[in-house]
Formats: sequence, C-alpha cells, structure tokens
Amino acid sequence: MKKIINLRDPVRTEVWDRARAIAHYEQKGEPYKVELIASIPGNEDLRMYWHGDWQDLCRGPHLQNTGQLPADGFKLMSIAGAYWRGDSTRPMLQRIYGVAFKNREDLKAHLTMLEEAAKRDHRKLGREMDLFHMQEEAPGQIFWHPNGWTIYTELQDYMRRRQRADGYVEVNTPQVVNRKLWEASGHWENYQEHMFIVEVDEEHAREKTINALKPMNCPCHVQIFNVGLKSYRDLPLRMAEFGSCNRYEPSGALHGIMRVRGFTQDDAHIFCTEDQIEDEGKKFIRFLSAIYADLGFDKWRIKLSTRPEKRIGTEESWDYAESALANAVKAAGHDYEIFEGEGAFYGPKLEFVLTDAIGRDWQCGTLQVDPNLPERLDASYIGQDGAKHRPIMLHRACLGSFERFIGILIEEHSGKLPFWIAPRQVVVAAIVSDADDYATEVCAALTAAGVRAEVDLRNEKINYKIREHSVGKVPVILAVGMREVEDRTVSVRRLGETKTEMESLAAIIDILALEATPPDLRRVTS
Ligand SMILES: [Zn+2]
Repeated sequence: MKKIINLRDPVRTEVWDRARAIAHYEQKGEPYKVELIASIPGNEDLRMYWHGDWQDLCRGPHLQNTGQLPADGFKLMSIAGAYWRGDSTRPMLQRIYGVAFKNREDLKAHLTMLEEAAKRDHRKLGREMDLFHMQEEAPGQIFWHPNGWTIYTELQDYMRRRQRADGYVEVNTPQVVNRKLWEASGHWENYQEHMFIVEVDEEHAREKTINALKPMNCPCHVQIFNVGLKSYRDLPLRMAEFGSCNRYEPSGALHGIMRVRGFTQDDAHIFCTEDQIEDEGKKFIRFLSAIYADLGFDKWRIKLSTRPEKRIGTEESWDYAESALANAVKAAGHDYEIFEGEGAFYGPKLEFVLTDAIGRDWQCGTLQVDPNLPERLDASYIGQDGAKHRPIMLHRACLGSFERFIGILIEEHSGKLPFWIAPRQVVVAAIVSDADDYATEVCAALTAAGVRAEVDLRNEKINYKIREHSVGKVPVILAVGMREVEDRTVSVRRLGETKTEMESLAAIIDILALEATPPDLRRVTS
C-alpha cells in the first residue's frame, strides 16, 4: 500500500462494452470477474480503471492519482478464507480485511474503539462472569446460567412493573401456530425464509398440519383483541407480552447473544384510534426515556422514518400518521432526524438509537404505526357513532429483545453492571477460618435484607479471593477477619477501587439493601 501511494500513479478510466470486458477477462484467465460481469443486471457498459500495472472494473469514482491517499490512514486487519459469493459449494478464496480513514487520527480512534470493544466483548465477559453459554446443538440459542438468568429476570421484573404502572395489560400467546394465521397476516408470503416450520402428525388427521414457530407476536395479539366486542371505550388498549420468538438467521449472521435465533421481546401493541396516536406516542417516549435513564443510558436519539416509495394507504393517512409521530416526539421534549422513505410499506415509525460508552449505535426501541394488520386480521371496535371501525395498531418495544439488550448492557458497563441488576452483588470473604461463623452471619443478614450475597470460606489468601471475584465482576466484597469479628464491622471493597472502607454491620446492611433496590421501587419508598 505504502509503495503504491509513494509511486503517485495516475488513475486512468475507460468505458467498455460488456462483450469487450468479458473477452478481456476470459483471455486473462479471470473466471470470477467474468461471472461478476454476467451478474450485473441490464446491458449497460462497464467502467474499467487502471493505475500502474493494476486493473479492475469499478463503478468509481476514483482519485486522480494514488498519492492522494494518506499513507498512514489505513491498516490491514486480518485474512480469512471465504467461499466465493458466500456459497459453501463454491471454491474457497482468500479475503483480506482492511480499514481506511481520512487521516491517522481517525484510524487511531477506530483502532482504540476496537480494542475497547474487545475488552468489553459480552462473549468474553459472559464466560468470566459465568452468565451463559451456547453450543452447536442449538445454534443462536442461549443456555442461561444462574448468574445470567438473574440479570434476565431482574430486568424482566423491572419491565413488568414499569409496564403495569403505565397502563399495560400483559398477555401470553402460543409458540407453535398454524400456517393459516401466518397466511392471513402476510408473514407466510413475506417472511417465510425467517420462519421455523414445524410439521405435526395430528391424530386421526390424514394430512400433516403445517405450523410455524412464531417469529413475531403481533398476529396473536390481534386474536386476543378479536375475542368479544370492543368499543371505543376500550381504547387505547395496551397489550404487552414478553414474547418468545424464533427467527431463522443464517449462521454467519449470529453474534453471541446479540444476534440469535431464539429471543424474547419486550413487545406490546397499542390498539387505538387515529387521533390517539400522538398521545400514545408521547406517553411511550416518556416511558422509554425513563427506562433508558434507569439503565444508565443518557445518550440516545430518535429517527423518524417516513413513507417509502412502495406503500399502501392514502396520502392523507400518511400525512396524518407522520405528523402525529413528529408531534409526539416534540411534545415529549425531544428532537428527531427524518429518514426519508425508510418507513414500512404500511406506516411510518420511530426508532430509538442508543449510543454506548465507546460511541457505537444500537437501535433498540421502536414505535410503528400500523393500520394494515388490523385490516388483514379483521380487528374492529364499535365507535361512538354505533358503527364498526378499524383500530390502528402501534407496535412498540423499548429494549428490543432481552437477549440483545443484556449484551449491550454488559458491553456498556464492561461487566460492571448497576448494583441492582448485578447477579452476585456481594461476596463475604473470610480472611481466617476463625471468622467463618461471622462471615456466614453477615451473608445471612444481607440475604434477609434482599441483597444477593454469597460467602467465600475457602482456605485461600484474601488477595486471591478478591482477585477472583473482581474478574467475576462482583460489585462489593466484604472481607472479615478477627478484628471485624470483635468490632462487628466489615471491610468494604468496591469493584475497581483499591482502597477499603470500614463499616459497621448494621450500616452496611442498610447501604447495600438500598442499592439493591431497583430504581423504580426506590422512588416509591423514598
Ligand atoms: Zn408487532
């Protein structure tokens, strides 16, 4: 690369017709180029580029000469074998990975970010903290260990309390659902490649029934809405489910617990009238921002995706829905960026994007206006005028999926999770075996006060114990020796700090019991 840059070779380009380009590459013995050209749609001419003795086809544009590249803004990262066109039946080729930036500073910032990301990698921390594992018999699905499942249930309990307080009802719907419903919802036609199909030999039936594991909860929620007559007085109806879904993702796309095949959404659908969209939107944005704040995320932004080219519905209904979402954002005290044409074919949406501690963006929350599914699945309510009307459905999620959000939480905090959500909050470590009884007593008192505490009575040096529990990201270690036994105190060491503090047993129980209380409950009691 450096040599090429120093040569300052001028870049030359010509437009060739396809036949000439194919003949050129055939003669040079480059079958992959020939195949690429054949796969370029249409019969347009191709652009060929040269610099020095190098030649390739490219859409361009290119620089005027190779000397215009910064000599210190790139880095070759790795090489790997890759099947031609990602197809395992085709030959294996070598792929060279590299990154390039405008200048050395941008490159350095990127490399630092990668280093930071590797240190925080939730797969590595997941092992060190004994949170979960995955194995090849269940690709893209998670075996949650007790520590990881504690984080999961703690987060789910928190979300359940918040939803209940915000006027949601919680439901639960089936995992295996007959294809008829997926045909009616449109998923069978448009989403089938992501669905796990399950064939069942029903007793006495001549044919197998064909079912699918649900990839989304929405059609099932409409089934609940459709039971019994609904009136305008029932709206808005906020129906929530911690909905377990399965989606087929190619194995190459899977990534730790962030991108999986089996996951649970903090899903809800708000059935409402068109003129309730704005108020419900505002209410949801406030709900979501309070939750992100509790979980330690203060940097996030809102994207408003508007009508795409291919769409259904009238221009008036799009105007209305887009401005309802925009007004909701403003009323909730936030700003939005517009993503022209990025909405779904049936309605506009808001997306909520978190920026993590090392500057990476994560789209987590969403709020989507949908008049289409109620129409397809024949949902209706009786209006004030006594006539039947279609409700609007707002699809919304705050975390997205628990699995992915926990991955983000782990990486955001480098495993040092907020105390209330940390799986092992306190380890009481005995310095000498004569302090064992007291250590056990301290642990029992903490447990009784609602703190997740364990005792470490192993015959190991205290420094060894501290090191090991620090790797496990235990936020607080209470060391107790003979002095602590006599004074009924504990020596408190917080994760990431080198100094220790002495506290009386009674005081530390009060302090930690308060820290262990989830933020929403703390607000209620204080
Ligand atoms: Zn939905």
